[in-house]
Amino acid sequence: MKKHNFYAGPSILTPYTIKNTADAVIDFANTGLSILEVSHRSKEFQAVMDEAQALVKELLEIPEGYHVLFLGGGASLQFAMVPFNLLQTKAAYLDTGVWAHKAIKEAKLFGEVDVVASSEDKNYNYIPKHYAVPDDVDYFHYTTNNTIYGTEIRKDPDVKARLVADMSSDIFSRPVDVSKYDIIYAGAQKNLAPAGATIVIVREDALGKVTRPIPTMLNYKTHADKGSMFNTPPVLPIFSALQTLKYYKEIGGVKEMEKRDLAKAAVLYEAIDSSRMFEATVKDHEDRTIMNVCFVMKPEYTELEKAFIDFASTKGIVGIKGHRSVGGFRASLYNALPMESVEVLVAAMKEFENNN
Ligand SMILES: *Cc1c(COP(=O)(O)O)cnc(C)c1O
Repeated sequence: MKKHNFYAGPSILTPYTIKNTADAVIDFANTGLSILEVSHRSKEFQAVMDEAQALVKELLEIPEGYHVLFLGGGASLQFAMVPFNLLQTKAAYLDTGVWAHKAIKEAKLFGEVDVVASSEDKNYNYIPKHYAVPDDVDYFHYTTNNTIYGTEIRKDPDVKARLVADMSSDIFSRPVDVSKYDIIYAGAQKNLAPAGATIVIVREDALGKVTRPIPTMLNYKTHADKGSMFNTPPVLPIFSALQTLKYYKEIGGVKEMEKRDLAKAAVLYEAIDSSRMFEATVKDHEDRTIMNVCFVMKPEYTELEKAFIDFASTKGIVGIKGHRSVGGFRASLYNALPMESVEVLVAAMKEFENNN
């Protein structure tokens, strides 16, 4: 049966990415070697790295003065690398959930942290609005998309301080004004590639400002100076990332991707909002993500939640169980998910509602 993959991460990849990666596992670039066994110093892999970096720059219209790195350690390592490299005295953070929280915890190891606002009071089901970022902090860090709670900030903020964003779960789902940012990072496993690589976009000018010594591997400068080839990079995920980036370019870039993502989310939210049985956990439309739609059953139907997941699985729908801290359901509509899968989910919701 055809599966409809709504997992939050690792998650669905484009068929183009999977097919080309599978082919390269057998024979990479006519080398007679698998991508799994080829040297990262070979000219064939260097070409992959160069093209992947160039395509990230092209798709996100990254101006001069930035490096594109593919690092190991996941987005979680960036929680520590960012303050290690940028936090001299004080940084500001926006607390919008678990991932922001983890980033704050690491930053506190390096200096003072000013949490400018938090939505913890309502289990992070909204985006805090009225807060000020002090001008004198070393940087302001925020999470663009809160994967667990289904909230998203889709507008690049205007702040005087340096700006750092965790875009792990919504990178390439909209055009970004990169010139506003000093660092953007994103684990690959949501909109790009298998787990194992993290994209880091870093402004050259943001580096070298702290006085502490930084271990070689945790210093952005090490990787920037070597074109992200200081040590063995995650070869396979970078190869897969290149395939996804080519696909994004082919369909018309991130503007077209955003159009498709908005359309998918609109269909699902409309079905939830007009339902007798289901309701969205994020009420304010302005705060709703287009990547990870979170919803629950209305109080009078909550005992049917498990039954719905079982029913959906008979239609090939997988990965819709909500994160344990929110409950209910989460349908991740990442870039690679086709509209057809959203339509199958909506039809399953309607059928289940009629049957119960
Ligand atoms: C998944 C996720 C992370 C964690 O990524 P890892 O690569 O597992 O470390 C961090 N931030 C956000 C917003 C995420 O969605």
